Amino acid sequence: MRKPIIAGNWKMNKLAGEGARFLMDIREKLPDGERVDTVVCGPFIHLPLLTEAARDFPVAIGAQNMHYEDSGAYTGEVSPEMLKDILVDYVIIGHSERREYFNETDESVNQKTKAAFNHDLTPIVCVGETLEQRESNETFTFVEKQVKAALEGLNEEQLKQVVIAYEPIWAIGTGKTATSEEANDVCAHIRQVLKDTYSEEVSEAVRIQYGGSVKPANIEELLNMSDIDGALVGGASLEQDSFLKLVEAGANA
Ligand code: PGA
Repeated sequence: MRKPIIAGNWKMNKLAGEGARFLMDIREKLPDGERVDTVVCGPFIHLPLLTEAARDFPVAIGAQNMHYEDSGAYTGEVSPEMLKDILVDYVIIGHSERREYFNETDESVNQKTKAAFNHDLTPIVCVGETLEQRESNETFTFVEKQVKAALEGLNEEQLKQVVIAYEPIWAIGTGKTATSEEANDVCAHIRQVLKDTYSEEVSEAVRIQYGGSVKPANIEELLNMSDIDGALVGGASLEQDSFLKLVEAGANA
């Protein structure tokens, strides 16, 4: 039985005080951490405040990116060691916005995924096709290639802890959600790839989230599907009420 995982991705939104206030307001209302893993991924600069506001409550804090080296001459970058040092637990890797606007490649995604494990951070690895790829029936092959490239070189124990977020690019921030069947078909394909490439145990352990215009109105249906274990949520994670509803749906899934 895989524990549902609901992660909010605030992207480049909220000032530090707003972020901390958000967590202080919701933290007492969050469901028990035995039922659902709740994660909030904030901008780098807010993370120390967020980890402080989340301390002793059932919500983990994640970053939205990081560099793969421990330290060095990489102006403007943040290392996995720095994240761990301020008690961050998760890191989103290879979000489609980073792939599109910041030259993130399958290779850098793989380096970052390995680096996350070196520092005891749980990676949320994002994959997903463009509308063009979907329309030319390339979704399965494209996503399969992204998954294999991202996970290359991980050992069995690490593989089991990976979280994969399937986010069709055409559904992100557009209000267009993939139908639950469309989303589940790709998540099931990813699970099959994990089974064929690694092992049945790995495929059964890995949690696969769906992301792309998830909101309180559609989350239950998505979480009812066989291979969807959670959601990575942008827009609907910015508002307390809707985020709490999403997390509640995760706890009841
Ligand atoms: P959205 O974003 O929920 O606003 O579509 C999802 C994401 O980019 O992770």
